[in-house]
Amino acid sequence: MDCRNFIGGIHNSDIEIKIMKRLVVLGAGESGVGTAILGKKEGYEVFVSDKGSVDETYKEVLLHHNIDFEERQHSEEKIFNADVVMKSPGIPDKVALVKALVAKEIPVISEIEFASQFTNSTIVGITGSNGKTTTTMLTHHLLKNAGLNVGIAGNIGDSFAKQVAEKNFENYVLELSSFQLDGIEDFRCFIAIITNITPDHLDRYEYDFNKYIASKFRITKNQTANDFLIYDSDDEVITNWLIKKPIESTLVPFSLEKELDYGAFLKEDNIIIRLKEEDYIMSTSYLTVKGKHNTKNAMASMLAAKLLQVRNQSITESMSGFEGAEHRLEKVVKIEGVSYVNDSKATNVNATFYALECMETPTVWIVGGVDKGNDYSDLLPLVREKVKAIVCLGLDNTKIVETFENVVDVIVETAGAEEAVKVSHKIAGNGDTVLLSPACASFDLFEDYEDRGRQFKKAVRSL
Ligand code: ADP
Repeated sequence: MDCRNFIGGIHNSDIEIKIMKRLVVLGAGESGVGTAILGKKEGYEVFVSDKGSVDETYKEVLLHHNIDFEERQHSEEKIFNADVVMKSPGIPDKVALVKALVAKEIPVISEIEFASQFTNSTIVGITGSNGKTTTTMLTHHLLKNAGLNVGIAGNIGDSFAKQVAEKNFENYVLELSSFQLDGIEDFRCFIAIITNITPDHLDRYEYDFNKYIASKFRITKNQTANDFLIYDSDDEVITNWLIKKPIESTLVPFSLEKELDYGAFLKEDNIIIRLKEEDYIMSTSYLTVKGKHNTKNAMASMLAAKLLQVRNQSITESMSGFEGAEHRLEKVVKIEGVSYVNDSKATNVNATFYALECMETPTVWIVGGVDKGNDYSDLLPLVREKVKAIVCLGLDNTKIVETFENVVDVIVETAGAEEAVKVSHKIAGNGDTVLLSPACASFDLFEDYEDRGRQFKKAVRSL
C-alpha cells in the first residue's frame, strides 16, 4: 500500500478498508485541475473549490474524471477536513482561508510540490523576473532536438501535474514563478536557473524586495553539491545574495561582461561555454532571438543542455531553429519599410529596457497600461537615443507624459490597440520600427498581455 495517499487501513479477515487521504485543490485553473487529475489517479479523495466561476472546459474535465468540485464559493466544511491543500499560484497567502488552513496546520503546497512526489524525472527549473518563458522554451527545444524524452510545463501548455498523471517523461523543463516556489517543501531541481532578479510582484511580498529574492532562491531548496544553479553573474542582486547566503549547489554563472573560469561568457561575437571539458565556442550569429537579454537566455539554456550531456553540434544546430515565443520581441510584419514588433509581454520596465536596447532603427514606442509602481528613469538614456515618438496606450498616461515630455518631441495618447497602431503608422517613416513594449500590465484596456499582443498584430495586419 502506498502510504502517501492512504492514512490508514482496517484489516478484516479478507477485506481491507482503505481510508483515503483528502486532497483539496483551491483554484480550478490549469494547475488546479491538473493536480486534481493527478490526485485522483494516485488514490486521493479530491475536492476542488474555486471562489470564481470555473471555465467550461475545466468543468468538463472535472466531470469526466468524476472529481467533486464547487464554484463561486469556498465551503469551509469541505475544505478544513483536508489532509493536504494545493493552492493555485494566483491565490495570495494573505487571504483568510489560507491563513486559517495554516493556523490549523494543514499543509498548503503548490502544484509543483504535489506533482514532484509522483515522478522521478530529472528536473530543470527556471525562475527569474524576466526571461523565464523564453529560457524554458529554448532549453526544452535544445533537449528535445537532442533526442531526450523531455516535457515542458509552467505557463506553457498542460500543467506539470497533468503531465505527470498522463505522460511518462524522463526529464522536465519547468517555468517556475515565485508563487509556485513559495509552496515547495521537498521539490528538488537537478538544474536550477535564475535568469535575473528585479523588483516585481512586490505587492505579494509585503513590499519587501528581500522576501521576493528569498522566494526566487527557493528554487535551490533541497539542492546538493551534485545539483547546479545557473545564474546571471552580472546581476548584483543575485551575486550579493549568494555572498550573504551561500548555498550547497554547484554554481554555474554566465556573464556578458567578464571572462569566467567556469560557466558561460561572451568573447567578441562568440558564446564560450567553459565547463569541465574543452571550451565549446558558438558564434552569436546562430542566435535567432535578438538582444543582449536573449544572449543571456541562450547562455543559460546552453549550459543546462551541456550539463545534461547534449553534444555541441546538436546545440548549435538547434539554436538556429528556435523561433522564439509569441509576444516577446516578436517580429510581426514590415509595411512600407516600417518594422512592427510585438513585445506585449514586457509588463515591467526591465523587460522594456532590453527591448529598447536592441532597437537598431529610430523607434516609435507604444507604451503604457497599468503601472505597478514603475520608475521610468532607467529608460531615459535609451529613449533619448532611440525613440522618435511615444504613443501612450493606457487609461492613465500621466507618469509617462511627465517623464518623457522633455525628452521626446512627439507624445500622443491613445486608448486602444487599433488607434495606437494607426497613429504609429502615421508617425513612422521608411526604415523605422514601431515597437509595442508597454512596461505595464494590460488590465485597463485588455483582458491580458496576450489579448493586447493579438489586438496589436491584428491592427497592424489591417493597415
Ligand atoms: P517571463 O516568463 O519571465 O515573463 P518572458 O520570456 O516571457 O519572461 O519575457 C518577458 C519579457 O521580458 C519580454 O518582453 C522579453 O523580451 C523580456 N525578456 C526576456 N528575457 C529577458 C531577460 N533575460 N532579461 C530581461 N528581459 C527579458
